[in-house]
Amino acid sequence: MLSTPTQLLRLSQGQLNLLEACPRKFQHTYLEKLNSPSNPEQEERLTLGSRFHLLMQQREMGLPIDSFLEADAQLQSWMLGFADAAPEILMTASDNQTFRESEHYRTLQVQNYLLTVVYDLLIADNQQAQILDWKTYPKPPNKRKLESNWQTRLYLYVLAETSDYLPEKISMTYWFVQSEGKPQNIKFNYSTVQHTQTAKKLNQLLSQLTNWLENYQNNQQFPQVVEGSKTCDYCQFAKRCDRIQSTEEAVKDSLPNFDSIQEVSLNPIH
Ligand code: SF4
Repeated sequence: MLSTPTQLLRLSQGQLNLLEACPRKFQHTYLEKLNSPSNPEQEERLTLGSRFHLLMQQREMGLPIDSFLEADAQLQSWMLGFADAAPEILMTASDNQTFRESEHYRTLQVQNYLLTVVYDLLIADNQQAQILDWKTYPKPPNKRKLESNWQTRLYLYVLAETSDYLPEKISMTYWFVQSEGKPQNIKFNYSTVQHTQTAKKLNQLLSQLTNWLENYQNNQQFPQVVEGSKTCDYCQFAKRCDRIQSTEEAVKDSLPNFDSIQEVSLNPIH
């Protein structure tokens, strides 16, 4: 029997977060492309975040960045703060045993999905591999929340699956360049136990997605979160889902949440 080629669906960490938070929201956002444009404040924050990512990429590639810094006081202050807090990260490796690459892109096939990740910076040598990620919003979220975010789980998982490094030799560090005072970081060391847990969770979620997609083809909507869920309070689809909020709650919608601002990618992967 001839096998038919299967088309792989690309998924990023942002999509996994959305799928886990509310499958119906995933449906509206990615299958029906109903996302509303972000507000001007969010736009500005994203633009500034993109500029910082671009600056770090140019610096890593050895391209001049002085003119960018001179033209933008905010970028200059972030860069100075970062250079002060983590000079070792800005240092170019003096040996040729260390691999460094900004905007490092990897993919991994799991079931019929192609999982994609983009590391802001990957530093790897014969001992260990470090994933680094820049965040340009002010306040670090709490560590537990960040640990369970799919960015952390997927980024670590994909590197362990696509390299020879044992999970114990892999870490991921978020740098919050705009934290009050000076840049702060949150580091996660990976482990075999976590890797097994992520594999299980990922496979469950993707199997569910396959079922929901099949049902969707038969005009069945993706499941919603239970009524009264906090997720609806912050959701732009509340009206469409008949989960209307009070005026006071609706105001919260104008505030950014972690999922909407967590990732600035120079290579859009959706
Ligand atoms: S309003 Fe609630 S149920 Fe509807 S998409 Fe948003 S989070 Fe999901």
